Amino acid sequence: MIQQRERSLVLIKPDGVQRSLVGEIIKRYEKTGLKLVALKFVIPDEETVKKHYLSDKGWLESVGKKAISAYEKKGIEPPIKDPIECGQAVLNVLLKYIISGPVVAMVWEGSEAVGVIRKITGGTEPLTSDVGTIRGDFTIDSYKLADVDGRAVRNLIHASGSSVEAEKEIKIWFEDEEVIKYRLVQESILYDVNLDGIKE
Ligand code: ATP
Ligand code: MG
Repeated sequence: MIQQRERSLVLIKPDGVQRSLVGEIIKRYEKTGLKLVALKFVIPDEETVKKHYLSDKGWLESVGKKAISAYEKKGIEPPIKDPIECGQAVLNVLLKYIISGPVVAMVWEGSEAVGVIRKITGGTEPLTSDVGTIRGDFTIDSYKLADVDGRAVRNLIHASGSSVEAEKEIKIWFEDEEVIKYRLVQESILYDVNLDGIKE
């Protein structure tokens, strides 16, 4: 793949929509120079969300491991010790969260799109996401609070974790023809070798 064409799937989750952050979130990605190539506003169904998270074979286990190690770091005995079983419990609460209302699904394209988007988005747990990131700046949820209430961490956004993951996820949310191929004028200044034609 040409580097400049790396793509990332981003979802503004239901809490992002309900917090009136759609414009603010899109603005942050847009200002980087990445190109918006697909966008839709939908209430997702359970099947789509399951497909999305289970498209990555190792996801259940890795999410379960992360949850277990978060408990251990705090010196708390994890309620479920098997990573896959724990991942399944996360998926159950996550499903409820993502299908609770409309979400904005988008595809962003450009050099290192996956990494750039994740940097701006911030780490999974808003409480510890860096200042300046979307999750760090606009919400305050934590694993602790989510656990007490038996719900998913509300962190405003999903962003693809790798280019391979992104390509799988894009197919789940968009038909091929819904992803628009076009040139953005600013791509010249971002990527072209020659900067001819600027001076008069
Ligand atoms: P995302 O995939 O949403 O960009 P991420 O890759 O950092 O974030 P994952 O580990 O893939 O997060 O988990 C997916 C989502 O599940 C998280 O964004 C969060 O909403 C929820 N989640 C993950 N782990 C937990 C947990 N231990 N307890 C509650 N909710 C969780
Ligand atoms: Mg993830």
